[in-house]
Amino acid sequence: MEYQLLAKTYSDLESTASMLAKKDILSIFLKNTPKQILKRISYLVTGQVFPSWSQKELNMAHGLAIQAISRVTGATREEITEVLKKEGDLGSVTAILLESRKQSTLFSEKLSFEKVYTSFEKISNSEGRGSVEKKISILSDLLSNASPIEAKYLVRTVLGQLRIGAGHGTIRDAIAQAFGVSKPLVEKAISVLNDLGEVSELATKGESALVDIKLVPSRPLKVMLYPKAETVGEALEKTGEISQAEYKYDGFRTQIHKLGKKVIIFTRRLEDVTHQFPDVVDAVLTSVKVNEAIYDSETVGVDKHGFIPFQKISQRIRRKYDIKKISKEIPVETHLFDILYLDGKNLIDEPLSTRLKLLEKSFTPSKNLKIVDHMQGNAKELEIFYQEALDKGAEGLMIKSLESSYKPGQRVGFGYKLKPKAESLDLIVVGAEWGEGKRANWLSSYILAARNANTNELQEMGRMATGMTEIQLEELTQELKKLVIKDGKIVKIKPKIVMEVAYQEIQKSTKYASGFALRFPRLIRVRDDRGVDDIDTVSRIKFLYQNQFKRPDNQ
Ligand code: AMP
Repeated sequence: MEYQLLAKTYSDLESTASMLAKKDILSIFLKNTPKQILKRISYLVTGQVFPSWSQKELNMAHGLAIQAISRVTGATREEITEVLKKEGDLGSVTAILLESRKQSTLFSEKLSFEKVYTSFEKISNSEGRGSVEKKISILSDLLSNASPIEAKYLVRTVLGQLRIGAGHGTIRDAIAQAFGVSKPLVEKAISVLNDLGEVSELATKGESALVDIKLVPSRPLKVMLYPKAETVGEALEKTGEISQAEYKYDGFRTQIHKLGKKVIIFTRRLEDVTHQFPDVVDAVLTSVKVNEAIYDSETVGVDKHGFIPFQKISQRIRRKYDIKKISKEIPVETHLFDILYLDGKNLIDEPLSTRLKLLEKSFTPSKNLKIVDHMQGNAKELEIFYQEALDKGAEGLMIKSLESSYKPGQRVGFGYKLKPKAESLDLIVVGAEWGEGKRANWLSSYILAARNANTNELQEMGRMATGMTEIQLEELTQELKKLVIKDGKIVKIKPKIVMEVAYQEIQKSTKYASGFALRFPRLIRVRDDRGVDDIDTVSRIKFLYQNQFKRPDNQ
């Protein structure tokens, strides 16, 4: 197949806002796609190159794409950046630059889908020494044989920003329509297999091929998510009078697959972190009695006083060397809270009560592999349990319906999370950075500072780039432009604008002058009513930091 057919479909999808029209376009395209490439086409139409469970990535940085575009179009980096400011995405920039050179370009050959896909695979396989040059030259080669519209989508695909507005629901419905099978069956198959290509292929064989699909140990599936409830009572109204309550630890989600003697650990983003956690692998091999299983769990850092904040174990997730050493320095515990597959049987459609029984039977708890701290009870009992969880350094409580199944990748309300409300902070903007892509015309990331009451200095405590609406970004940019003291991509701002900021956690930081940074800062509102003298002091932030987990040792 020629790549231009796919590019034309992308363009048709992009140019209509109607979801129904998008679904129709996609379904016709899938129906007419030759069988031998249907799998790969199914990934590409959603902007993926590999199945969702795969660890493969293109890893093509913005800068590398710019170099390739520069080579092929002859435009300098500065010229490309200039057009990018107006256009908002590098794909469109490439198309424009190629268009303006049309006369001088001679396409040597028509770009085939096969060549494009093989090139993507080559980009993904380029690692280590010389890989930067290799990636640039593979993309340059593709672009030099591409028409402007093909180039636009090639660049967007390698950058992982397809921007055609066809999401999960559209592709699901398009597969169902193209091959005459039911939407719920397609939905279910996608959630179990986590592989759009495989689902499309199965759908061509009719509904019978989509019934009874099994989870595949070693292939991660999307984790179930939980909406937030404000109170125990509100959660119980939805999950039932007697529900399962569990500590909500401040660790990271671990989906653990056991296949005989092999253990694989995935994060919430389905990243394979087995190498970083040999201690968890050992704990699983020692304690788990069954041959094959998929567990859902939270892995949390501990010290001699109890749980430690996420920030510390996040170092372990990133660490690629000296693994044994850091395992000893920052030990972890894994708390299992669900089982999704057991010795050839899918359990995701079983009620939680059944899954919990099977979970308990499947392993012998040890110091590092435990069942989550839990209880089942009524509102009054759960209130006490919630307080106890917070006192012990947990982040909150999960309340789950005992009758519910497990819906991968969805926030369906089969369980709720409860967390105490975080305090907000009033901080002042002392700097800002010009955005990229869609945000290119806005100062869209703000450097925030608190006041040191002893020295009266403004001390930085990190950046915030979320919580602003487009209107706010526009207004803030106009406001901030008047206050610029020093120009550049990152500008220095005269301290005048106070922002009320929500956050998930205060962390210690050596990077910022205040000694603190915020995890997940988000704008609540601009405090027009406040000035530099009203903002929070570093000593209040220190106080909040020390008390945020209600543990005396948390400095
Ligand atoms: P949040 O990240 O605030 O949306 O909360 C959901 C996350 O809490 C999950 O993705 C898990 O990583 C984590 N978590 C901690 N303890 C539990 C538990 N007992 N059950 C489910 N999720 C938990």
